[in-house]
Amino acid sequence: MAKKSIMDVIVKDKRCLVRVDFNVPMDEQGNITSDNRIVATLPTINYLIEQGAKVILMSHLGRPKGRVNLEFTLKPVADRLSQLINRPVIFATDSIGPSAKATTSNMQSGQVVLLENLRFYPEEEANDEQFCRQLASMCDIYVNDAFGTAHRAHASTAGISKFCTTSVCGLLIEKELSIMGKALENPDRPLVAILGGSKVSDKIGVINNLIGKVDTLLIGGAMAYTFYKAMGYTVGNSLCEDDKVQLATELMAKAKQHRVELVLPVDNVCADNIDNPTSIIECSRNSIPDSYMGLDIGSKTIQVFSQYISKAKTIIWNGPLGVFEKEQFAKGTYCVAKAVVESGAVSIIGGGDSASAINKMGFADKVTHISTGGGASLEYLEGLVLPGIDCLDDK
Ligand code: AMP
Repeated sequence: MAKKSIMDVIVKDKRCLVRVDFNVPMDEQGNITSDNRIVATLPTINYLIEQGAKVILMSHLGRPKGRVNLEFTLKPVADRLSQLINRPVIFATDSIGPSAKATTSNMQSGQVVLLENLRFYPEEEANDEQFCRQLASMCDIYVNDAFGTAHRAHASTAGISKFCTTSVCGLLIEKELSIMGKALENPDRPLVAILGGSKVSDKIGVINNLIGKVDTLLIGGAMAYTFYKAMGYTVGNSLCEDDKVQLATELMAKAKQHRVELVLPVDNVCADNIDNPTSIIECSRNSIPDSYMGLDIGSKTIQVFSQYISKAKTIIWNGPLGVFEKEQFAKGTYCVAKAVVESGAVSIIGGGDSASAINKMGFADKVTHISTGGGASLEYLEGLVLPGIDCLDDK
């Protein structure tokens, strides 16, 4: 069911309480090291300002464990946001209570307030009803634009909506849903999914859901070795989930039944050691030596995967294809990223590690969309209901 966005309601002169994801990385001195997440919310914030809304922003930052800990204050974010929107951002030193209420009840239209870190209260993650009511009492319209936390049923991401007459999404969530929704429900075909990362167990739900939707599933990363075992190959010291081998067999059978091509690496880059390798070799999948571990896809696999990718019209990618953090094992992920960019297909990159791989390799501005939510995008690809979206008003 499509959800209402800020475009579907009148926001002028209304107190709009917007849940954003300002959980930005910081260095030890409290300096913001990447403002990507702040920048991603600017379309919503600027739209609300232009429309004459009273904009109240709320977010969590880090893990203060339900206690006031100024190491995790959002004040530096207020300062950075103020530079980005070129206007003052009033910082409220609490997220609820008399001072927050006083700050938010005397706002002019077009003004912007940022509340202090929501996770200074344990009630936020506990989705406490009283806390939800207190947040809701500060607004006329609740807006959720924090895709990164949309899979969590916390007070500010879901619970609050029960106490608000109007609950809508912001432009970032609307964009995430429209791009990923189209890719899953009505894609230009062939639709190719690329899955990597460390564990099959983390991605079972995604594989299961995608088998009903994609034309081709390319599997790399450590995940591939559990499938290898299911096919009867030995995997040396490669990461492998022995308790998921049966499941891998079932997933391959399911793919066959749905006529989905499930493609595994035909060769691998293997090393005697992950941290200080003294010997790195490339070997086919039926010849991984006992004392070696597979740490990247091999060059024949890069060719095979690139061919599928070059014919794709839509690509969904989640998880690196090797230990991309180390240069010796980053080639597979790099070459596949390059093939994705060169394919000209609509390309959607899941958040988390896939997003950092694409960023690190300099392809961030060449793909169609990089999701701002790691866990949330995975759950969306699994076909799960995200509480932070489910709670919003239907169109
Ligand atoms: P995930 O969070 O499941 O997407 O996993 C990402 C992690 O998987 C990255 O840190 C990669 O280094 C790791 N990874 C990818 N391929 C392998 C591999 N063949 N062996 C060990 N770790 C891997």
